[in-house]
Amino acid sequence: MSKTTLTFYGGLRTIGGTIIALQYEDSRVIFDFGLTYNPAANIFDGQVQPRKSAIIRDYLKLGLIPAVDGIYNHELLPDQLSIRSAQEYNGNTAVLISHLHLDHMGAMGFIDSSIPVYMTRDSLRLYTTLEKVGEGIVGERTYQSCDYNQSFTVGAIKITPLQLDHDVLGACAFHIETPDGAIVYTGDLRMHGAHPERVETFIKSAKALGFDAVIMEGTTLRSEEELAEELLVASKELPEDLLTESMIADGMTEILRSTQGIGFFNIYQRNIDRIHGILKAGRESGRKVVFEAATAEIAFKILEEQDFFIYESEALRESIVNGTVPEWQQELIQEFHTVSYHDINLEPSKFFVQNSYDQSLELFDLHVTDGVYLHSNGVPLGAFDPAYENLERILATINLERVEVGTSGHAIPQHLRYIVDELDPAVLIPLHSFYPERLKARNGVQLLPEYDKVYVLSKGSVKEQ
Ligand SMILES: [Zn+2]
Ligand SMILES: [Zn+2]
Repeated sequence: MSKTTLTFYGGLRTIGGTIIALQYEDSRVIFDFGLTYNPAANIFDGQVQPRKSAIIRDYLKLGLIPAVDGIYNHELLPDQLSIRSAQEYNGNTAVLISHLHLDHMGAMGFIDSSIPVYMTRDSLRLYTTLEKVGEGIVGERTYQSCDYNQSFTVGAIKITPLQLDHDVLGACAFHIETPDGAIVYTGDLRMHGAHPERVETFIKSAKALGFDAVIMEGTTLRSEEELAEELLVASKELPEDLLTESMIADGMTEILRSTQGIGFFNIYQRNIDRIHGILKAGRESGRKVVFEAATAEIAFKILEEQDFFIYESEALRESIVNGTVPEWQQELIQEFHTVSYHDINLEPSKFFVQNSYDQSLELFDLHVTDGVYLHSNGVPLGAFDPAYENLERILATINLERVEVGTSGHAIPQHLRYIVDELDPAVLIPLHSFYPERLKARNGVQLLPEYDKVYVLSKGSVKEQ
C-alpha cells in the first residue's frame, strides 16, 4: 500500500538547518537545505580551509549535511557510506528552498545538478545578485524558480508556495499535497515586519487549500523560567516595546538628527526592507547614504534605488588603480559617485555610511568623533558569536558609540501562538527552536518528531511508522 511519509534530517532543536523529506511512492520533496547557525562551534573558523573537491565528503563526516539517499553526485560521495547517489536512485526528487538565509539554503549547492532546486522568483532574483557580488554559496548549479500561489508538481506531489513576511526578500511557506493528505511548512516568518498583511493572507490561503499538519518555526520560544506560560497567549497585537521593521527608519532618523559626526550602519543586506529604511533615514536626516559596493548593487538592481553613493574602500581603490575592478563594480562606479574617507571627513554630519564587520578597519580612516554606529542586525549579531567581542574591541579603540537599532526576523511568541491558533491544525510540528515543545496547538495534537524515525501522514494525522 502506498503512503506518504515524513522524515526529519535537521532543525528539530536547532535554529535553522531544517531538512525534511516528504515522500509519496517514488516522488519526494526535500524542503530547505541549509546549515545550522552556530558561530561559536563553527568548524570553519576562518583558519580551517574547506577542501573544494572533497567538500561533500567532509561535510558528511562533520555531520553538517545529512546522509540522504539520492541527492549527492556519486563521484563526490565517500566509498564507505551506504547511501545511494543521485545517479543510483530511481525516483523523482526536488528540493524546495523557503528563503535565502544560510540556515535554509547554505548547502543547496551540494545537491546534484540532476535534481531541481526550487525557490521563489524573488529569491532567485536576489540569489543571482548575491552570486554576482561574491556572496553565492559553495557549489555550481542552476536553480528553478516558482511563483507565489502557483502550484507545480514533483511527480505525484503538488506544491504551492505562499508568500510570507520575513527579514529577507522572497520568503515563502510551502503547501505540499499528496493523495494521502497535505502539510504546510512555514519556513521563517514574522508579524512585525513591513508586510504583516502577507501573514494574514498566508493563513487564509493555507486554510482554503486545506491541510492535516503544520510544520512551524519557533525561534523566539524560551524556557518556562524565561517566558512564563501565562505570557504565551495568542495575540496579534504589537507590544509597545517591540520595534517593527517600519519603525526602524524613524528611530535611525531621530538618532542621526541629534548626532554631530558621521552616522554609520551595519546591516544584513539580504533584508531589502532594511536597505529601504536606511535610504529613508538618510533622506529624512539630510544625510547622503553611502553603501559598500555589494549593497549598492542590491539597492540598484533589486530595489531600483538611485539616491546613494558608493564607499571607496581600500579594496575598491586598489582595484581601480590596478585596473582589476570586477565588471559589476565597473558598471556601478560609472552609474554612481564614489566617496572616499577624505570626502566624508570634510563634512561628517552630512553622511550616513555603511560599515560591515569585515570592513571595520575602514573606520580608522574616518573622523569618528561625535559619530554613532547603528548596529542594525548586521553580523556579528550578538554575544553568542565570538566576533561580537571583537567588534566591541574595535569600536572601543576609536571610542565610537554603538547603538542597537534592529529587530528580529522571527515572530514573537504571542504571534506564533496567534498564527497557530488561526491555522488550527490537527497536527502541529514545531521545530527550528530550542524549545519547540512550548508551541502548542489550540485543538490539535503537538508532535515533536525524532531523527531516525519515519512518520506517516494520513488524513488528520501524522503517526510514527
Ligand atoms: Zn531560519
Ligand atoms: Zn530565516
